[in-house]
Amino acid sequence: MRCTALLMLLVWAPACSDAGTQATGPIESGGGSSMEPGPAGWSRAALRIPGDEVLRDRGNALLDRGLSAGKAWHYLKELCTLAPKRLSGSPGYEKAADWAFDAMIAAGLENVRRESVMVPRWVRGEIERCVAEASDGSKIDLAVTALGGTIGTGPVGITAEVIEVDGLEGLQKVKNEISGRVVFYNRPMRATARTTGAAYGEAVGQRVNGAREAVKYGAVAVLVRSMSTKLDDYPHTGAMRYGEEGSDKIPAAALGLISADRLSAALKQGTVRITLELEAETLPDVEQWNVIGEVPGSDLRDEIVLVGGHLDAWEVGSGAHDDGAGCAQSVEAARLLIEHGFRPRRTLRVVLFANEENGLAGANGYADRHGEGGAHFVAMESDSGGLGPRGIGLARPRDVVDRLQPLGFPLGAVGAERLFAGGGGADIGPLLPYGCFVSSLKVNDERYFDYHHSALDQLENVNPRELQLGAVVMAYWLAIFADCERDALASVADKSGDVPG
Ligand SMILES: [Zn+2]
Repeated sequence: MRCTALLMLLVWAPACSDAGTQATGPIESGGGSSMEPGPAGWSRAALRIPGDEVLRDRGNALLDRGLSAGKAWHYLKELCTLAPKRLSGSPGYEKAADWAFDAMIAAGLENVRRESVMVPRWVRGEIERCVAEASDGSKIDLAVTALGGTIGTGPVGITAEVIEVDGLEGLQKVKNEISGRVVFYNRPMRATARTTGAAYGEAVGQRVNGAREAVKYGAVAVLVRSMSTKLDDYPHTGAMRYGEEGSDKIPAAALGLISADRLSAALKQGTVRITLELEAETLPDVEQWNVIGEVPGSDLRDEIVLVGGHLDAWEVGSGAHDDGAGCAQSVEAARLLIEHGFRPRRTLRVVLFANEENGLAGANGYADRHGEGGAHFVAMESDSGGLGPRGIGLARPRDVVDRLQPLGFPLGAVGAERLFAGGGGADIGPLLPYGCFVSSLKVNDERYFDYHHSALDQLENVNPRELQLGAVVMAYWLAIFADCERDALASVADKSGDVPG
């Protein structure tokens, strides 16, 4: 492997991160003249940002290699085959962690290790049933799945009348009618939202906090319209939270959209009673792991550029998009750079996090252990599905984003040249207080919530080319962040103290 890397280093010498050459040599002055936006004194050479020719060669090399012999799909297929059910705390997660360890070694990463964290162990159980009885005596089988973290109903289930509300706001309007009933939150994701992520953010409160709020008014269970953009009858699970220790708990489940519409239609005709059975339970916390590997840096090796996703997944599907894709892309982005002989100035660290879906123990544990001292310069997360990339997001002020945006030009050939203002993710968020800049892969997410947290989140719903292109985009920007001077991401707002989180 080392021989190959050395060979590639020679072949790719103008494009690699030999910063001394780039800072002073002819490549920078020859290549950077057409794109020098930014404030007076902005100098790509001084900031160790390669010139256009270098970036073009690098982008083309990554695209050619990624699209001809990329491994993102191979990694994803392995993960989803070896550990299709890998919720935190489960035996499946342990298989996933073993896969991650082996994949990082095979990719050529160094210092590969597991770092332990304590994670919750919630178990769905076998039984998930919901039958509605309408006012005319007819019965409707509703497609239902337990929300992550819910208590079970007990073996006889819960039978009660249903009251429909429009999200958490709607609950407040009928709070005096809730006692003894099942609250049915039926707020849809807003079709006019400009992004599906925004629509999800608006509607998801009823899933996360619906049970906690409804129990205050005497509800006996909650049903929630799935956070989904596809009109089918696959229910979508996801995390929910109860109130503080000792507060009352009621069962909570998601309904498929067709089931939600049928229940709503029946309620318009008269009273509806449902019987809900869920076997879910929470067992004691267990020890599991973040899995970490590195491409060691050179002159800035004590500084970190992190790339990652989360290794755990809801077990109703196999977590192919959420977030098997992000795991596969993170390992693949590092592998591509290694294969091309890229020797980063900063250490490039791949972190596959535990327990993103129902607790963030992996993310918080990582930040607690490694955040202090401010070694993390940039952290990039992929957790929006393995869909066609548009570019990356960077949570820096507009002047920084505008200045760096033109650097994405080699990815324009595949429509992924954008640098969006804003980015980040759940797993890297805990690094923010330590001065880390956060970034994320941005994809065309029109279809993401068709699959998200449902039985449809399967390998066959991931397109190998889209997945691989995401890894290429990540590798491209990671190389820039691994080598540039810190001031390349500095904003005029930094001096005024007005720095966004
Ligand atoms: Zn995710």
